[in-house]
Amino acid sequence: MKDKKLFNPENFFSQRKLKMWQSCQREYFLHYYAAYGEYDAAVSDEDDFHIHLLKSIKTEDEFISAIVVESLKELFEAHVNIENLPKLLLNNFNKDCNNMLLGEFEFDHKCPLLFDFYYGGNGTIEELFSKIRERLIKFGTNLADNEFFRKLFYRDKLNFYPIEDEAPSISIGNLVVYADLLALIKDGKNFYFLSFKRDDLDFIRFFHLYYGVHKLHLQADWIKTLVLDIHSGEISELADKQTPISEVIAYISNSYSEIPKLDCTADFRAFPKVDDEKQCLNCRFKELCC
Ligand code: SF4
Repeated sequence: MKDKKLFNPENFFSQRKLKMWQSCQREYFLHYYAAYGEYDAAVSDEDDFHIHLLKSIKTEDEFISAIVVESLKELFEAHVNIENLPKLLLNNFNKDCNNMLLGEFEFDHKCPLLFDFYYGGNGTIEELFSKIRERLIKFGTNLADNEFFRKLFYRDKLNFYPIEDEAPSISIGNLVVYADLLALIKDGKNFYFLSFKRDDLDFIRFFHLYYGVHKLHLQADWIKTLVLDIHSGEISELADKQTPISEVIAYISNSYSEIPKLDCTADFRAFPKVDDEKQCLNCRFKELCC
């Protein structure tokens, strides 16, 4: 059994962490405490294996987002023609499907595992894969055709991953704050930060500004925010209306203090289930919890 006293899942903040806490405390405990860190066969038991396996399950949007991240990285690094994007997306999708069909996720929890593949959805596996393939083609074609993105793509490109080995983060006091960042594209004196479009646009803009100013030492007025719609492949620039940085820092501090520190060794059943059990239908831990 792992020594859970060594774990410290507490001193970081992300919108996902906050939303999960607010949505289901039991899911939050399973995700951030019971399945904290990477599964290590040398020190873990069967329960740990099961919890880590369930944690690795991706929703369809998360699965597609991971393929998009991988494909954009290849597109930026290989300096290939932008028209290759749909093909890159499909290649990565096929690789993930093969891995999934071979059951690689049973041995390596970083391997892709789709919610509807594991739990079964409305149709067959072939129908599921075909639906995702169509989404990827539409996404890739729209993005490759986007005039604004095409203009930026052929400028100097700075892919994010060579800048940071791990997920991009900023530090506010002792707190580490995470958000997604797909790419950084330089165009003249402007630096375009690209993230997925989510419902927390103020937070995304704040993260870009803080990262650009404090980590890359850029001037705030050079930093532009682009958001990418995972459904349509549309890309748009956020208008320059922002919540002041002091307000976002206060929001992060207040939200973080809303999440209590938990006992890592607790039994997950000690945490309340959600009132509306319909929510459990889409929960990756339902096999363990219900
Ligand atoms: S199955 Fe339901 S109660 Fe259990 S962790 Fe998931 S959402 Fe919460």
